[in-house]
Amino acid sequence: MSRFHVRRAAALKALADVGPFVAGSLCRVQRRCGNPRCRCARGEPHAAYVLSFKVDGRTKTVHVPKAMVKEVQAWVAEHRRVKRLMATVSRNSLALIRSHVRTNRGGGPSRG
Ligand SMILES: [Zn+2]
Repeated sequence: MSRFHVRRAAALKALADVGPFVAGSLCRVQRRCGNPRCRCARGEPHAAYVLSFKVDGRTKTVHVPKAMVKEVQAWVAEHRRVKRLMATVSRNSLALIRSHVRTNRGGGPSRG
């Protein structure tokens, strides 16, 4: 087995135990709630979290309830991990295609 096989197998093994994930990034935003009598109307705005993600090239956001922030953070991190692993599998598959071409090409007088 080549090193490409080994690296790809390791990434595939890691992909086998992927947990929940979500595509997007978690951002802390400052918001005013709109209530004119709330302290945020004049002073410090409320801190909130949103998940921003893309749909058909457009950025969308969804409010993330405070109680879910830690969990969503983990989902976002897991998505990054999955993307890295998929890139590793793909990269090594490409390397295998290329190395096969190199190893099996020629044999004729042009080789060397
Ligand atoms: Zn407020």
